[in-house]
Formats: sequence, C-alpha cells, structure tokens
Amino acid sequence: MRELKLLYLYPDMLELYGDYGNIQVLKYRLEKRNINLIIDRYSIGDKKPDFTSYDIVFAGGGADNEQSILSKDLIKFKDDIKEAIKNGVFFLLICGAYQLFGKYYKGVEGNIIPGLGIFDYYTEAIKDRSKRCIGNIVLEVNLNGDKYEVIGFENHGGQTYNVKNCFGKVLVGNGNKFEDKEEGYFINNVIATYLHGPLLSKNPKLTDYIIEYCLKRKYEEEIKLEPLDDTFEEKCREELFKVLEIKKEIR
Ligand code: GLN
Repeated sequence: MRELKLLYLYPDMLELYGDYGNIQVLKYRLEKRNINLIIDRYSIGDKKPDFTSYDIVFAGGGADNEQSILSKDLIKFKDDIKEAIKNGVFFLLICGAYQLFGKYYKGVEGNIIPGLGIFDYYTEAIKDRSKRCIGNIVLEVNLNGDKYEVIGFENHGGQTYNVKNCFGKVLVGNGNKFEDKEEGYFINNVIATYLHGPLLSKNPKLTDYIIEYCLKRKYEEEIKLEPLDDTFEEKCREELFKVLEIKKEIR
C-alpha cells in the first residue's frame, strides 16, 4: 500500500480555527484512494525531526504569544527546513506559521519575533489592536495552469509585506494586508497563507494538487488521481459563493 508521511509542527501551540482539519482532509482524500497517511507530531522538547524524510510538513496558526515562545525553537531547525524545501518536501503553512517563515513578525508593542528568514517577506502588526483582517476570503489561484477559487477565513492583525510570489489574487476579503489584492506566498512546494477555514475542506482541488505533487515526487511517476465524488463539497462551495455574492461571471 502506498503511503505519505506528514510532520505536524507544534500541534499544541499552532492550531487555530480548525487548522488540524487540513490534515484530516488530506488523510480522508488519500484513504479514499487507498493511500495511507502517517502523521508524526513535533512539539518543543521532542527529538529533532528529520525534515527531509517527510513528504509534507504542516504548521497552523497561532497567536503572538505562542509565536514568540516557539520562534527560538523553530529557528534551531532553519538549515534542516531549508534543505527539506530544496529537496521538494511540501510545506503547508497557515497564518502564524506563514509569518514565522518570513524575516520577522513585529508585534503591537514593537517587539520583534524573529522568523526563519527562509523567505524575504516580513510582517508587522497594525498598531490599533482592535483592527484585524477578519472574515471570509476568496482567492483566485493558479494550480498547474488552471484557475481555481480558493475559499477560506482570515483572522490576522499582521500585515505582510514584500511577498514575491503570492498564493492568489483576492476576489473577496483582505489578503496579506488590509485591502490588499494579493494573498499568501506560493512556490511549487510551499503554500503559506492566512486562510484558515480549514482551508483544505473547502477546496478539494487544492488538496488534490498537494496530494498529486507529493505522490509524483515520492514515486517518480505520472500520477492521475482517481476522481472522488465531491458533490457535497461542491454544494458547500456554491452556498459560500452565494453568501459572498461571487457571481459565476467573475469566476
Ligand atoms: N499573530 C498573528 C496575527 O494576528 C497570527 C494570528 C493567526 O495565526 N491567526 O497576525
């Protein structure tokens, strides 16, 4: 039986708004195709993970306080993580984790939480604590040349600057900053995004993009994923599009 291995970073500290649901959805869509997902967890104090031995690394969102606690621990793995990204391991990073892979996060009080600095972007919290980018968000994302509307939920005070390759164009919502046109960061094997939701349950095609990528890389062959019955998922998406007043014409 084929299998993929996933490393879940800081499950006890980075898990906001159902981020773990992303792993459940990956597992569900893999098992439907008779592929097993092994899930290992890493928390502060555990044995150092061998990042390159995984197919997927996942980290979720977390508040400033958690980010400042775990930043020191994460930075110890900077070289290993860089190597894993270079080797093509897939990284899915949500919100707080997205911020921590950039240069730094500057909190409301001006305190700097150092990031891994693997990517050039940086994040600064908005001075007014009461102002946050909160709400449903829809992006237009390019997945291997196909346009796909990615739906999620954002809740962040941090404003992310200097993003070279965004994850998607904002159709509804804010994005990397208040009223931005762009959201997240995306290279072939890294998706870093503010979208909670959980992201993957609302976007089955995005889940399959990740699965396909990981299987191709691991088994070094052309993979054509067996289609699943997504009637229910598609109905949910249509409902959300209706609520958000996204008309078919602009999709
Ligand atoms: N501390 C970050 C912010 O508010 C991250 C929050 C989150 O992960 N949802 O910008």
